[in-house]
Amino acid sequence: MQPLTEQLLHCALPDLPLPAVLRPRWLAEGVLQLTPQHAPPRAVVVSAGIHGNETAPIELLLQLLAEIGSGALRPETALLLVFGNLPAMRANRRYLHHDMNRLFGGRHRNAPRSHEATRAAELERVTAAFFAQADAPETERWHLDMHTAIRGSRYPQFALVPYHAHPYHPPFFDMLAAAELDAVVQHSAAGGTFSHFVSEAFQAQSCTLELGKARPFGRNDLPQFAATGAMLRALIIGAPLPARQKPPVQHFTVAESIIKTSEHFTLNLPDEAENFTCLPPGYEIAHQPDRCWRVGDTARHILFPNAGVAPGLRAGLLLAPGAPRLSLSE
Ligand SMILES: [Zn+2]
Repeated sequence: MQPLTEQLLHCALPDLPLPAVLRPRWLAEGVLQLTPQHAPPRAVVVSAGIHGNETAPIELLLQLLAEIGSGALRPETALLLVFGNLPAMRANRRYLHHDMNRLFGGRHRNAPRSHEATRAAELERVTAAFFAQADAPETERWHLDMHTAIRGSRYPQFALVPYHAHPYHPPFFDMLAAAELDAVVQHSAAGGTFSHFVSEAFQAQSCTLELGKARPFGRNDLPQFAATGAMLRALIIGAPLPARQKPPVQHFTVAESIIKTSEHFTLNLPDEAENFTCLPPGYEIAHQPDRCWRVGDTARHILFPNAGVAPGLRAGLLLAPGAPRLSLSE
């Protein structure tokens, strides 16, 4: 295990020297702000570990931090590096009490008291402080929230763009293409994720990145995350983005959310079904006593199928092919 990972897991803050010229400030446990003096008008939040057992993005973020500490990587943009759920990371669990990525946008106020509710409120405050500090009228605000998925995926690496009413710009999608993502999914409704909160509250260009399957700390297949790392390094130093080597990104839009409302809910899919599995039109994908869900003519790809969620929560999404959504008028 890398020494910085050990530090993150065993004490409050990684203890590493950071160049004074970056004016480093820990805004909260595991939340580091870096402010280069002559930063171009872009403020970038990069987060990992909102789910504590999604280790590979945490290791990638620590690697970037180590490179910044050694001077190998010299940020030319205002940066906020966020290690989300530290107690869950230490326990190697997704969360301790509540899924933090359902509690943003003020939902933590209506949730039972928990570490995750407190932390979501804290991350909302420090993100607001970061953007306020980095602000100028022309500042672009970007946020990448890195995760790994539970199940296998036909498109191993993909982005989830939150529902947004304000414009998103082509350079943001160029950045996702440069990260060699296989697919981009556009949400069609608001949610309690960190990326949705940052998008809505700060009119930011924001997304959740699903970067493949995680393994325990120190045993991740880090080359799998090399393209994301290369994109982040370019973004941080303001260099041209790496050229894409893969076929074009596939774009999808969420056409329907399957919301489980009964204990007698069933999902007609094998447990090992991969994300983005394409189903035949008319196929009955889910059933509960008061309704059933059939696959439509166009919305045929299933994402995040999970019959085991508590009633009231999402048991899957049906996706239709779609183009990137840049603004409300599209
Ligand atoms: Zn996650």
